[in-house]
Amino acid sequence: MIVKQGIPAAPGVAIGPALVLDTEEYRIPRRTVHHSDIGEQIKTLDAALESSSQEVQELQDATTRKLGAKTGTIFSFHQHLLKDAKLRETVVELIRKQGYTAAYAFGQEMNRQQRMFLAAPDGYIRERVIDLYDIEKRVLRHILGRAREDITSLTEPVVIVAHDMTPSEAAGLDTEHVLGFAIDVGGQTSHTSIIARMLGIPAVVALNNVTSDISGGETMIIDGTHGIAVCNPDQENIRRYNERAAEYRKFQLSLEVLRDLPSQTRDGTPIHLYANIELAEETRVAMQTGAEGVGLYRSEFIFIASQALPTEEEQYETLRRSLRHARDKPFTIRTADFGADKHIPSIKQESEANPFLGLRSIRYCLSDLNMFQTHLRAILRVSAEGDVRIMFPMLTTLMELRQAKSVMQDVMEDLEECNIPFRRDLPVGMMVETPAAALMSAVFAKEVDFMSIGTNDLTQYTLAVDRGNESVGYLYTPHNPAVLRLVRQIIRAADGGQVPVNLCGEMAGNVLYTQLLIGLGLRNLSMAPKNVPPIKKIIRLTTIEECQAVARKVMRSDSERQIAGIMRERLRRIDPEAI
Ligand code: PEP
Ligand code: MG
Repeated sequence: MIVKQGIPAAPGVAIGPALVLDTEEYRIPRRTVHHSDIGEQIKTLDAALESSSQEVQELQDATTRKLGAKTGTIFSFHQHLLKDAKLRETVVELIRKQGYTAAYAFGQEMNRQQRMFLAAPDGYIRERVIDLYDIEKRVLRHILGRAREDITSLTEPVVIVAHDMTPSEAAGLDTEHVLGFAIDVGGQTSHTSIIARMLGIPAVVALNNVTSDISGGETMIIDGTHGIAVCNPDQENIRRYNERAAEYRKFQLSLEVLRDLPSQTRDGTPIHLYANIELAEETRVAMQTGAEGVGLYRSEFIFIASQALPTEEEQYETLRRSLRHARDKPFTIRTADFGADKHIPSIKQESEANPFLGLRSIRYCLSDLNMFQTHLRAILRVSAEGDVRIMFPMLTTLMELRQAKSVMQDVMEDLEECNIPFRRDLPVGMMVETPAAALMSAVFAKEVDFMSIGTNDLTQYTLAVDRGNESVGYLYTPHNPAVLRLVRQIIRAADGGQVPVNLCGEMAGNVLYTQLLIGLGLRNLSMAPKNVPPIKKIIRLTTIEECQAVARKVMRSDSERQIAGIMRERLRRIDPEAI
């Protein structure tokens, strides 16, 4: 049994057989072929060696450019082996004499060499076995022509274990069979984690090599509430975690009674709770949790889900499907937030050294006006059918806001000319998620109808920590005093400019922060639908005065540790079971 501590990404407990993607990724489907296919297998092998060698060359060139020739030479060994005539000859011989497939023959020869390396007395040679694994994976990927085990047609319940998972892979998970997932990398607010919470799949990220600690089929426990993964648990742990899973289900049920109760503090101040939505279908469930509307519709997920660029009609239909469930409740659509960790298959972006600081989000949209206009047309058209609001993400300068509004103005004029209905006076807002926008929020407030604080990015950019990088995860705290000062500044600027302000970062859905955020003056919070009931529970247990006291104490503190302590202690006072 191995117990590993990672970062909790989505709450709940999952117990089941592991499906390990990174080691089963290259499961070889066939070992032998008919005699007549041997020539074809050799051609496949040669093509795979050639493509792998080209790939390594590109990698080597890029590494040399970025990190210098010395670092680039680490790939020389890979290149040497891929071009090694003796290696090719041995594999070809296995294909010819044994009738093996190219993949199986290559795998056999690599296994033999790996065993030899591992038995070497010289430590340096033993370490090179990692390079052999790497080469084997690369060549097999070319031979087998696919990147991953197909996880879209599962028939048995599994716990997925992988090195990494992209947000689009996570969004496509089959929730009927995927009990939970554990990955080596990632952070609490990386988009993969956000999707796990949205799907209600327990998940733990940043498990640092969990893929090597378990084999496919072995039992895996995921405690997504505490960020723990147990590989090959003993009976005692299975029993304990089964109990926890039952407790968690009971807790979820107890929250259901809250659905129809008003979201207001004990002393009667309403706190409006909205849902963050990634997939249109989710809106129906979100409204059932008691959310008062949609505070953040992450429209880029319409693009993530499809291989081709979605047409205006497709975008419109998806938004409309979602809006129907919200009925006449507020429905805030954020324009597409592409880039960084949200890769869009249909948009070929140049690879960037620092994608989180690159052509992301509104910056990308303003650089691809055709796409942006089509997107805005779809949003504006749907605005005729409900209480739609629009907001622009990732703004850094006032100029970007003005440009975005002016593109929208043009689209409105086009629609008018074509007699296509839309809401002329739809509220136009912005996300405040860069320190630049936060510092200038009083100026921005004069030009928008509302603001929404995106603390996921605001934390990342204020503290200069990549929100998805587990090695700096210890620094990623939205309750860092620097972040909180910016949050307070934005709230004051919005109040001063008399524009409503919402907070839609992940901290809005975490009970630890509820009293603090209310105490700082927030009356609108937007979160993953699943978090609406537990947050409402805390709201109903506290008073504005208590919240203000928490905020005062927190804002006098200068360390995040101390702040976490204050928040925990104050939460325990009103709800001893909350943590
Ligand atoms: C945020 O940055 O806080 C936010 C809500 O946007 P996203 O998580 O989609 O970047
Ligand atoms: Mg953001």
